[in-house]
Amino acid sequence: MPSRKFADGEVVMGRWPGSVLYYEVQVTSYDDVAHLYTVKYKDGTELALKESDIRSQSSFKHRKSQSSSSSPSRRSSSRSRSRSRSPGRPAKGRRRSASQSREHKDDKKKIIQETSLALVVLVLFKPSENNTKRYNGEPESTEKNDTSCIILEQKLKPDLEIKRVLEQYSLRSRKDDKKTEEIFSEKKTFVAVKPIEKVPSKTKELEFGGRIGTFMLIFLLPATVFYLLLMCKQDDPSLLNFPPLPALESLWEWRVFGVFLLWFFLQAVFYLLPIGKVVEGLPLSNGRKLQYRINGFYAFILTAAAIGVLLYFQFELHYLYDHFMQFAVSAAAFSLALSIYLYVRSLKAPEEELAPGGNSGYFIYDFFTGHELNPRIGSFDLKYFCELRPGLIGWVVINLAMLLAEMKIHNLSVPSLSMILVNSFQLLYVVDALWNEEAILTTMDITHDGFGFMLAFGDLVWVPFVYSLQAFYLVGHPTTITWPVAAAITVLNCIGYYIFRSANSQKNNFRRNPADPKLANLKFIPTATGKGLLVTGWWGFVRHPNYLGDIIMALAWSLPCGFNHILPYFYVIYFICLLVHREARDEHHCKQKYGLAWERYCQRVPYRIFPYIY
Ligand code: NDP
Repeated sequence: MPSRKFADGEVVMGRWPGSVLYYEVQVTSYDDVAHLYTVKYKDGTELALKESDIRSQSSFKHRKSQSSSSSPSRRSSSRSRSRSRSPGRPAKGRRRSASQSREHKDDKKKIIQETSLALVVLVLFKPSENNTKRYNGEPESTEKNDTSCIILEQKLKPDLEIKRVLEQYSLRSRKDDKKTEEIFSEKKTFVAVKPIEKVPSKTKELEFGGRIGTFMLIFLLPATVFYLLLMCKQDDPSLLNFPPLPALESLWEWRVFGVFLLWFFLQAVFYLLPIGKVVEGLPLSNGRKLQYRINGFYAFILTAAAIGVLLYFQFELHYLYDHFMQFAVSAAAFSLALSIYLYVRSLKAPEEELAPGGNSGYFIYDFFTGHELNPRIGSFDLKYFCELRPGLIGWVVINLAMLLAEMKIHNLSVPSLSMILVNSFQLLYVVDALWNEEAILTTMDITHDGFGFMLAFGDLVWVPFVYSLQAFYLVGHPTTITWPVAAAITVLNCIGYYIFRSANSQKNNFRRNPADPKLANLKFIPTATGKGLLVTGWWGFVRHPNYLGDIIMALAWSLPCGFNHILPYFYVIYFICLLVHREARDEHHCKQKYGLAWERYCQRVPYRIFPYIY
């Protein structure tokens, strides 16, 4: 087997997929299995290229001038192709014959196939006049290595500008001159090229503090949950009043574990019911798309019915409150066992099914972040199931149990106003997530993170047992609030929810159908992937408006607990830290995906989450 030709760190010339344009790139890694080099363009874009698409710098001669016969602009004027309905369509007299057109198509196909096995060319973006206007609202910067804009800018720039870009680097062979001609004639077609989906290679940039950080988090996360629950049980849950440790045997009860298992498998049964539509997820690195059944909301309705039946038959739901710590321990033990299972099975998973973020080769790191991207048993997707079902629906059930426990313990005929607010706000949040279940398919959790301890523990322990902390706190620490205060908190929650929902919907709708007439007033920056980056509307306000809305809601969930202790504010403090960290991770990924286009977006929208603050 031939060894690799280019070393890591070497600066070479890499061909931009589907074109004859070569740019200076740096080799960052090599995939021995797929025989692909990962290269980084100057604008930060990373792509996987075949060796044949990489040349040493010395093999290039800078072209100062060209003979008139080979001028792309001249050739273009004689051979540019017709595209009816294209805004940039050429004059009738310049149409190609059918055979020329076929030839052209064959050549184009060849270019694409030659460029990379993994290259996906999609006709993603056919701008209408409307789109043109929207783009024209953007600054017309023409960075040389702005690969993000090459194709789209072709319709906006004068021929000379395109000629300059094309001439900057080119190979001298006639074969490639021909290709140049074809690509140049593409300037009227508005075809966006999707960059190569990378075959997963080793994760080089370790997050969460690397091996040491993830090792510590495996202990720190469960410890935090137990600390919070123990604190909540205290009469005086001040920070300095450290709770006494419970006897070990009091933490485990097989019956409780059995109830937990019953809950988990009941949700699994609901998930498997053939109700609800089946949708496709985003393309994986091998181009395949997984199918997902969207029936989380139905699962919620069925769960509500089941709980209603239990209550009707006098089942004491506050059993959950009485054994809360034991439930948390059961969930933690289960999530640990699940994580071990996930890691062991991931060792047999094919390379292409490993998570981009959890393939470092370090056991602890991969165990924590998740080695396999979409572990499935048949069509049962373990990660997708755990993300929204047992934990999230469980959170609402726990809140309800706390409400009933409060009524029972304090002998109330109706729950306290604080408890009603906390229950209603969080119910709205969970129902919203389940109603918009499809949106989860484009989140980092599904597309980037593997399924390992982080998500298993997060979904099954952290969400149900930490997010319900306010309701748990209120049972032991009754708090009275007045109606005007309750109204003010409700308004705050509604504002947060409005920002959160409209920002998420705006982006999701735009991603689903950028040409949606309802979004016609929004401007966006085009990128090489064919996707745009919104720069007006919510996404022009701050770079993560949905996080802002989420944080405002988190505050509204804590306020009904009053100001006696900081404990009920743990959620909002933790959540700000989580989202600031998540935002940084997302920025990093977006920078890699969109390169210079992302930088332009950041210039246009300077604040990340909080306007004028951060
Ligand atoms: P986001 O919904 O914020 O999506 C980020 C992605 O949106 C980026 O990767 C990019 O993806 C796209 N994007 C970024 N900027 C733009 C733009 N200007 N125009 C168009 N698309 C853009 O991701 P999250 O998964 O982090 O969050 C989803 C929701 O879940 C949020 O509301 C968040 O608050 C909530 N959340 C809640 C948590 C909880 O524990 N309660 C935890 C984490 C999140 P691309 O371009 O590839 O489409």
